[in-house]
Amino acid sequence: MTDALRYAVFGHPIAHSLSPRLHALFAEQTGIALEYTAIDAAPDDFERAIREFFARGGRGANVTLPHKAAAFALADVQTPTAQRLGVANVLTVLPDGHIEADSNDGAGMLADIRGRLGFDPRGRDVLLLGAGGAGRAAAFALLDAGARSLTVANRTHERAQALAAALSAPGRLRTVEWAALDQCGPFDLIINATSAGVQHAALALPRSLARTHTFSYDLSYGPAARPFVEWAEAAGCAAVTDGLGMLVETAAASFERWHGVRPDAGAALKAIRAGIRP
Ligand code: NAP
Repeated sequence: MTDALRYAVFGHPIAHSLSPRLHALFAEQTGIALEYTAIDAAPDDFERAIREFFARGGRGANVTLPHKAAAFALADVQTPTAQRLGVANVLTVLPDGHIEADSNDGAGMLADIRGRLGFDPRGRDVLLLGAGGAGRAAAFALLDAGARSLTVANRTHERAQALAAALSAPGRLRTVEWAALDQCGPFDLIINATSAGVQHAALALPRSLARTHTFSYDLSYGPAARPFVEWAEAAGCAAVTDGLGMLVETAAASFERWHGVRPDAGAALKAIRAGIRP
């Protein structure tokens, strides 16, 4: 193992991260020797930690909560997608030494929902629950993918309104108060981009949001997705899936960005799913 192929995921906390395992699986698939570690950095230490990592030979990093905005801000160059979102989950050291920031959360979500699960958002009425970092990436991706309408509901309504203002998609976009969710729907696609599950908080949703054709998708995975999955099943949705596939797709896209080789995300998802139950 050389210092030349060092990668890491930065977060706080980070011990639970599946990224090291995913990149190890991809490395095994492709025969690329690399080191990928999880680094816990508190918010006030993130920039120092990441600069030290790169100064010591780190080539790239994934960045997760709560550092995505800080990752965007410290980069020298931002991709158009990152610029649009104002956050980044992939940092790459360019040949000239500059740091590039990119966001592949939205593309990873679409690769899973549309590519793997076969549900095309084009022409669909979509409900997005949550307007945090992941909700923001999901909203842009869903509109880009041709959703007929996008309804955004967030616990703090002002944040949904701010997202709607940033999206600027007249005629296709509206926000609803969380308390008024029982007055809208049903939807073709419901995306849960809240962190209620990871915080073990209840997410009380009316069953009227869904019908038997509704596809529901929770960005969180494992036990954190269970309450939403149970709600969707009780509401009679046609299908409900957690966000493990999205995580694998974003990891695969990062791997391809760094190594120029597309790993087999499907095989990695199968391997990792065996140990994770929604
Ligand atoms: P974030 O920026 O902290 O946003 C959290 C969102 O959840 C906000 O909209 C917040 O509403 C809402 N929320 C929190 N607790 C709630 C509750 N009890 N009831 C209703 N809404 C609540 O987090 P994020 O980065 O967007 O991540 C959101 C989720 O997506 C997390 O579970 C994360 O693990 C998951 N995620 C998955 C992937 C993947 O690859 N699968 C990638 C990124 C994120 P307020 O604005 O009112 O606080």
